[in-house]
Amino acid sequence: MQVLHLSVECFPVAKVGGLADVVGSLPKYQRHLGIDAAVVMPWYDTPFVRENEWDKVAEGSFYQGSEPLNYIVFKERVDKLGFPLYLIKIPGKLDRPEVYCYADEAEQWIAFQHAFLRWIKYDRTAPDIIHCHDHHVGLIPFLIRYANEFNSLKDIKTVFTVHNGQYQGWMGWNKSIILPAFDTWRWGLLDWDGMINPLATAIKCCDAYTTVSEGYLEELYVEANGLQHLFRDESAKSRGIVNGIDVSYWNPATDPLIPATYSLPTAAQGKQENKKKLCAQYGLSEQLPLLSFIGRFALEKGADCLSKIIRNLLSQNMAEITIFILGSGDPQIEDELADLKAEFPKHMGLFVGYNEALAHQVYAASDMLLMPSRVEPCGLNQLYALKYGTIPIVRGIGGLQDTVKDVSEDGGYGFVFAQLGGNDAEEAVERALEQYKTEKDWEVLRSRAMSLDFSWDKSAQKYKDLYDQLIN
Ligand code: ADP
Repeated sequence: MQVLHLSVECFPVAKVGGLADVVGSLPKYQRHLGIDAAVVMPWYDTPFVRENEWDKVAEGSFYQGSEPLNYIVFKERVDKLGFPLYLIKIPGKLDRPEVYCYADEAEQWIAFQHAFLRWIKYDRTAPDIIHCHDHHVGLIPFLIRYANEFNSLKDIKTVFTVHNGQYQGWMGWNKSIILPAFDTWRWGLLDWDGMINPLATAIKCCDAYTTVSEGYLEELYVEANGLQHLFRDESAKSRGIVNGIDVSYWNPATDPLIPATYSLPTAAQGKQENKKKLCAQYGLSEQLPLLSFIGRFALEKGADCLSKIIRNLLSQNMAEITIFILGSGDPQIEDELADLKAEFPKHMGLFVGYNEALAHQVYAASDMLLMPSRVEPCGLNQLYALKYGTIPIVRGIGGLQDTVKDVSEDGGYGFVFAQLGGNDAEEAVERALEQYKTEKDWEVLRSRAMSLDFSWDKSAQKYKDLYDQLIN
């Protein structure tokens, strides 16, 4: 069975968040199950692309509205990621350093989808499944059915995975003229509330849609940034499949990005060694429990509440905790956190920006990881934290609820709180600090955490079952 994953992020080619981690690892695990899985993504001017060798496998041209565009499809020569990786380059559209935030994003993603369809129609055998990830490639299930030129591809089954339903790719109807020519009687499939909405189109037209945890699927039925009715109406073809992690890359026993590697029996010393290095670098005390946050400074992540939570914790427990924050995003949040760091220089470390190696070091060095998210479709940070023996303190929503069991439950290994308002997060941290005081209790938690299996094996099999069902 041949599956082409279509995404605008894939680690380590181009990563902004969890989407990249999933697309960069799931296909590898699917190949272990005998699926011929590959990834197709836009070409970016990133270090991975510059540093590796590429073969040109196809090229062509088309009109996007009245604009002539050329495309070239490249394949990475040695399948370095454990699966075939294809990049589509379109000079002037898909040849830039960043993934997002360009004013012509709609033109970029439409061009990507159009070039992809031309490539599989004219230059290669069609796959059995096209697996689309998030709204950027959400028009594919519509285009293979209703764009005249690609009608011969209409029997290919499409799976669409919702990594984040908050972003939907809305564009005005004036963009319809840059889509490949389609059966205009079907315009309603593109429309949601007077806009072209690629996420809604995908949910309407795909053969099956999945969400990255079961809890998130339930949440989307209730609140999906305006699409909750649609998710419910199409629920017969839905499935929640929790993300896994790539344990060959995220593994404290072999991780080349951390100063001291460790496994379960050596976790106490190993983590302390990593903490010592991180704390020395940021002028923090290595004697205190270290609580961290890693992620985008966005409302979804509850990052706007971090300052208040940190201030409360530090003013009550000044002697008992240090905090490290790694992230970037909303400039106001960045400023607030910088001010807070200036106020508590010995108790708070801050790195504003994206830093893959530092993220590994923080997971390895920390005792606890805080995730006060408002929306968390799956969340990978808590899974990495658990693997690194770092106890998650999370808001019980979406994927966090599915993957973190509170210590009050039998076999629990984390701290779960309900609300963002009030002092729920602070109280959960207090509970964790209380447990941390007794070394033995903390060791039990850490060993439970590190013994959990969040590798892709089970979830990759669930995707395979879904593909089999669609094909048969
Ligand atoms: P998102 O909603 O941002 O996709 P996920 O929890 O699914 O959240 O995935 C976040 C991924 O991005 C993890 O691999 C995490 O370690 C990484 N990450 C987030 N912010 C940063 C940062 N500032 N530097 C390094 N890695 C980061």
